[in-house]
Amino acid sequence: MNAMLDFGYQSLPMRVVMGPHALDRLAEEIDRAGLKRVVILCSPEQEALAVTVAGLIGERAAGIHPHARMHVPVESATRARDRVAELNADGCVAVGGGSAIGLGKAVALRHGLPIIAVPTTYAGSEMTPVWGLTEDGVKRTGKDPRVLPVSVLYDPELTVTLPAIVSATSGMNAIAHAVEALYAPDTSPVVGLMAEEGVRALATALPDIVADGTDLEARAQAQYGAWLCGACLGATTMSLHHKLCHALGGTLDLPHAPTHTVVLPHALAYNQPAAPRAVAALGRALDGATDPAMWLWELAGRLGAPRSLQELGMVEGDIEPIVRIALANPYANPREVTDEGLTRMLRAAWSGRPPTG
Ligand code: NAD
Repeated sequence: MNAMLDFGYQSLPMRVVMGPHALDRLAEEIDRAGLKRVVILCSPEQEALAVTVAGLIGERAAGIHPHARMHVPVESATRARDRVAELNADGCVAVGGGSAIGLGKAVALRHGLPIIAVPTTYAGSEMTPVWGLTEDGVKRTGKDPRVLPVSVLYDPELTVTLPAIVSATSGMNAIAHAVEALYAPDTSPVVGLMAEEGVRALATALPDIVADGTDLEARAQAQYGAWLCGACLGATTMSLHHKLCHALGGTLDLPHAPTHTVVLPHALAYNQPAAPRAVAALGRALDGATDPAMWLWELAGRLGAPRSLQELGMVEGDIEPIVRIALANPYANPREVTDEGLTRMLRAAWSGRPPTG
């Protein structure tokens, strides 16, 4: 028999437009949001795409600011906020991955300007009211409804240039959101459905994308999965896996998506014994897998993605301080996080051994 239903769920107010040539509908979305002059934000590498976007929206484009950087350094946020004020803009269009969208959030946090997001990775930031700012090597995060984009356009054609390895790690980053949402303290049946479907879509699409980055059907499936996994992230509170990745990224400056890719199978293996419903849902999503953690570790191998923290540049001596940081602030987790358990888990992730919990 099913357990008695007992949950809370808050749906977030935003529009999603998904499909081939979704970008062509950007002008319509800007008008629908009542915006007249938007600044296009992107990372330096996506400047050419931002120019195309400006061409598509004509006089609605107030300017392009191609200076987004990973983890939103405060100096970069200040520069973007000043530029948006100078241009007298009334909104931002963030085109790119989590870095561009993060910059849009930093502007929204200060000026309250609405964001329209055009994601080109699978990181999922566009679906959350969570912002992040990095100062003196410390990343602060917070929640504010003003940073949630009003509208998100998913156009698979914008992702065909995403290299195989970035697609693989970004997709694993998205899967991590759904995995932790399944055992989150504030999970719900709706979140469970989104998480299961999101993991299924990404796990199916990623091998096809790595084989052929121009496979538009696989690209669309991956974006669909990224949307659902991002929505799971926006709806729940994350646990061990995300806390550990935050500590590794913030303290050692390890790259975001590859770190998630390496840690996920290990964090999941640690939590699996205490999260039977999550294991069952992941089993349904992953071809009937009985050990989803091992299945995801093997998937990372098949995708050619990194599987050890060592290869991301972490040295063995960093394990102990990271364990200290990860234990310093308590958070909800299905299984008690102990010094000994965390050290064992991080050692396996560092050396690239299969996950054992
Ligand atoms: P990113 O935005 O830095 O993109 C990764 C790389 O991919 C960059 O070099 C970028 O130039 C390149 N790229 C992006 N789109 C491309 C495309 N279509 N073709 C070719 N190259 C492309 O990184 P990310 O992994 O998307 O996002 C990570 C950041 O987002 C981190 O700072 C993380 O903390 C943040 N994040 C925040 C949330 C949230 O809810 N606030 C959620 C997830 C991630």
